[in-house]
Amino acid sequence: GNPSTLYSLARKPRKAVASARERIAACIGAKPEEIHFTSGGTEADNWALEGAAFCSPDRQGQIVTSSIEHHAVLHTCDFLGRLGYCIDLLPVNQDGTVAASVLEELLREDTILVSIMLANNEIGTIQPIRELAEVTHRHKSLFHTDGVQAVGHIPVDVKELGVDMLSASAHKFNGPKGCGFLYIRDGIAIEPLMHGGAQEHGRRAGTENVAGIVGMATALEEHQKQLKHEMTYLCGLADILLGHLRETGLDFLVNGSSNRIPGSLSLSFRGADGEMLLHRLDLMGTAVATGSACDSKAAVLSHVIQAIGVPDDYKHGTVRITLGMDNNEKDARTIAGQIARILK
Ligand code: PLP
Repeated sequence: GNPSTLYSLARKPRKAVASARERIAACIGAKPEEIHFTSGGTEADNWALEGAAFCSPDRQGQIVTSSIEHHAVLHTCDFLGRLGYCIDLLPVNQDGTVAASVLEELLREDTILVSIMLANNEIGTIQPIRELAEVTHRHKSLFHTDGVQAVGHIPVDVKELGVDMLSASAHKFNGPKGCGFLYIRDGIAIEPLMHGGAQEHGRRAGTENVAGIVGMATALEEHQKQLKHEMTYLCGLADILLGHLRETGLDFLVNGSSNRIPGSLSLSFRGADGEMLLHRLDLMGTAVATGSACDSKAAVLSHVIQAIGVPDDYKHGTVRITLGMDNNEKDARTIAGQIARILK
């Protein structure tokens, strides 16, 4: 049954989608009507940026983002730049944090939107979103955050953060792939990205991915229930892994801020080759990433590692390890041992 139709067969899927919307809203402190289902984080990011930009009457104005955003934001900004909008990229400090004072200096009268990610997908750094949103609102501009790496892993409350829009993706919290949502605060008008039917309060056309939406709500609720335990457990596992690595005497840097997503580690080994390390670890049964998972086929140094200025003799030896609830202490020890065996 198609949830948008009138026959009785549609009642069950319609109820399932409505309930998923309520359950997701409750997890992030939003109202159900502020949740808009999308095909994932990429669509949510594209929609937030393009939707806000296209509201500008003269198709001009400034859009501000950071130099370490995911390509779903950076490439959308490139596109909007080609259309004539002014795109400004904020620098980050060595741990990947954006300073509110730097943002304030850059804002202009015609700033349409500021988009800064809640947590970085490579180095895990969590941004001071509340502060950045406050600065943006003082300038009467909109604030969007890419919450794809954060939702389901740290407490996220859209009202406490004070954001106008937030993107999320189900597969980042063990939900189905190809499903996500965009939170749009009540009263914020942005142009649709998808034109057609009247789904998603008439703002995002297309028959709902019912199974994906229900799976996403259930996965997020599951994470939410054990959030505190998960955060403590994963921080502990990461510490064990780092402790064992340090004992091996390997020379490496831990990238990003100490305020980062639990279980997310970006490590740069001096004189090593991250891609070689990835393939050797893969043969040993351990899956890691080098740069961003989305461009791990390209051997170019990631824009995030460049932006935070990892020293030359370490930067090519960068790997990203993401520990999850299926990992245990033994895994942490094993991974450290495998890395030591390969590099020594
Ligand atoms: N934003 C961030 C920070 C991400 O890490 C990702 C995916 O890795 C995306 C956006 C894109 O999300 P999706 O793969 O659901 O389109």
